[in-house]
Amino acid sequence: MNLSRRRFIHTTALAAGGIAVSSPGYAAMSEGLSAPEAARPLFVATWPFGQPANERSLEVFAGSGSLLDAVEEGIKVPEADPDNASVGLGGIPNADGAVQLDACIMDGEGQRAGSVAALEGILHPISVARRVMDDTKHVMLAGEGARQFALAQGFASVDLLTDQRRGEWEQWREKQHQPDNHDTIALVGLDADGRLAGGCSTSGWGYKLPGRVGDSPIIGSGLYVDAQVGAAGATGLGENVMRYCASFLIVEYMRQGLHPEDACLETIRRIAAADPRPAEDLAINFVALDKQGRYGAAGTGQGFEYAVAYPGYSEVLQSTGVSNADIGPEGGNRR
Ligand code: ASP
Repeated sequence: MNLSRRRFIHTTALAAGGIAVSSPGYAAMSEGLSAPEAARPLFVATWPFGQPANERSLEVFAGSGSLLDAVEEGIKVPEADPDNASVGLGGIPNADGAVQLDACIMDGEGQRAGSVAALEGILHPISVARRVMDDTKHVMLAGEGARQFALAQGFASVDLLTDQRRGEWEQWREKQHQPDNHDTIALVGLDADGRLAGGCSTSGWGYKLPGRVGDSPIIGSGLYVDAQVGAAGATGLGENVMRYCASFLIVEYMRQGLHPEDACLETIRRIAAADPRPAEDLAINFVALDKQGRYGAAGTGQGFEYAVAYPGYSEVLQSTGVSNADIGPEGGNRR
């Protein structure tokens, strides 16, 4: 991690106003990335495949003016891509050869959320999550119930297991080795009215136990949006995210005044300090953006690539990374 280019000030009290989730002991100076004030909407998404998703979100927003529509339609891009092994169609199946999808969507306005977990045979879990949010009294539907809900809502039944993934799964069954195969689209957005929204979609950990649900559909873990503060999303090993409510934690750090990138870094340090394994083995990555249009990302080890877009701008950026060398005895910064 390139800590030298980051400057921190030591302080005993963080900006007031948030829940005191911890005392990191320092707050970042606001020198991180931010979009120009007029550059709205702004979208930040995980991985390079977040770039076409962001660009679709910009397009949809330009047409409809709806941030939620933009988030949903952006996420539908990797969901529909059979070559993307981590999301939707062509996702890596579970140990039984079934593609089980997790997704959620959240609207800062009214703190609304919808989510589906272990959903089979539906092309766009993000849209089913939106329907759960908009048309039911519930937040989360799982498994066969989620599937029946989707079918009743008019979603088509689709075989999500492509020939390529079936072949790879058959090979996996013979060898039973666990490849490191997983990724998620988490996409968060901010519009000119200061409205915030986000979504998350994944096929989860490749060859997972049937019924395993990761962080991605869990509000506060894989995604969190707070209308007053900002939004955060996760990708990586869900087991190392959901035990810490990591996206919620990032938003709370932003509420305390941290720049989104520093909020992601602080959350990783906090998790790494609690986990006996080296930080670089945790495989967790976060994106975040705040209501002022500041954004950032951080991941364990070398970090990861994430995508940022606003009108006239669309880039894939490298996040900072956190390794054990960056973490002090109490999870604080070593410098
Ligand atoms: N977070 C996802 C899960 O654990 C996978 C990933 O993003 O790599 O299901």
